Amino acid sequence: MGFDEAGAKALMEITSRPDLVFMRGEGSWLEDHNGKRYLDFVQGWAVNSLGHCPPEVVRALTDQAQRLINPSPAFYNQPAMDLARRLTGASCFDRVFFANSGAEANEGAIKLARKWGQLHRNGAYKIITFQHSFHGRTLATMSASGKAGWDTIFAPQVDGFPKAPLNDLDAVAALIDDQTVAIMLEPVQGEAGVIPASTEFMQGLRELTDKHGLLLIVDEVQTGMGRTGTLFGYQHSGITPDIMTLGKGIGGGVPLAALCAREEVSCFAHGDQGGTYNGNPVISAVGVAVFDALTAPGFLDAVNSRGRQLADGLNRLSEKWGMNGERGVGLLRALKLDQTDGAAIVQAAMALQPEGLLLNSPRPDLLRFMPALNVTAAEVDHMLLLLDTAIQTVRS
Ligand SMILES: *Cc1c(COP(=O)(O)O)cnc(C)c1O
Repeated sequence: MGFDEAGAKALMEITSRPDLVFMRGEGSWLEDHNGKRYLDFVQGWAVNSLGHCPPEVVRALTDQAQRLINPSPAFYNQPAMDLARRLTGASCFDRVFFANSGAEANEGAIKLARKWGQLHRNGAYKIITFQHSFHGRTLATMSASGKAGWDTIFAPQVDGFPKAPLNDLDAVAALIDDQTVAIMLEPVQGEAGVIPASTEFMQGLRELTDKHGLLLIVDEVQTGMGRTGTLFGYQHSGITPDIMTLGKGIGGGVPLAALCAREEVSCFAHGDQGGTYNGNPVISAVGVAVFDALTAPGFLDAVNSRGRQLADGLNRLSEKWGMNGERGVGLLRALKLDQTDGAAIVQAAMALQPEGLLLNSPRPDLLRFMPALNVTAAEVDHMLLLLDTAIQTVRS
């Protein structure tokens, strides 16, 4: 089958894509328009928590689609209530607002914090965020992000996001003034290259926010829903945040995100927040199916076992090739290269024959691994073999 050049031309060009069209997927595997198979350790950027086309997601979609697709967010629907109950029952939060993307959930978190500041902190509105952080691609979430160049690309920015270096409590404290309302961070910075906030730092932020009467917001769009081996990333540090956002893995591949907050912080008045598709029953039903799979007995234990297996294997490769080791939590991991050939390794891995390997290189000297959370031990071993071959191809 030929590549659809005209079709590709009709799409707005927002990134450089390979001349491949993926036609079907199953679990950790994808198949392109030529019938070539790829082991997928990107999974839509940590989105397909149960792999490609998991049966429980397909079943939830088709069952709910035959019953009720969209009564409008002005009315209750049962799947949204079922999913909200599950999320509040499993976390320290009391209320959930569903959204369609991580950026939209974060916009909601920013609005909620500003509203809370108007009600309780004399209109304080600044939210301290972190260098190299990533919170999404809307204007406000790009302004909250600490990605290089994002301060000018669509200037002027949305005001009120002073930035501190991660894991530097004194620097955060120095940014607090009477206009500060919250601190927002990713428990593990994903796009920045899988950089965990330390437990002491998370606990220090909670103490600092308590002392100054500020909100602590965790952006768990990437770290939430089992990715780090606990259901939520904040649970590793034993703290209780005020607001959490979820996205990516919560929908297992469909557009679902959530803004979770404690009762005292859930201060939107009628009309402050909404959205046409938010919390629609079809997508919420998928969320319920994904949640139940992730919280089934033994599931997170397997995530932790596969995480250790992946870490051990990456460390062996690092030693073999003279690289700088690996880091990460659970099944969000990175291999630290000793050279800036990340993009070349990604290319070589995709081009391997007869089977390709899909990887991501968020920085030139780093490879990121975000497999399905139900990846098998054999698939992890297989990936390590393919990766070794790809490195060999690039470096010999
Ligand atoms: C991906 C991501 C987002 C943005 O989510 P979208 O669904 O792409 O809008 C926000 N925060 C973090 C930490 C992310 O990894």
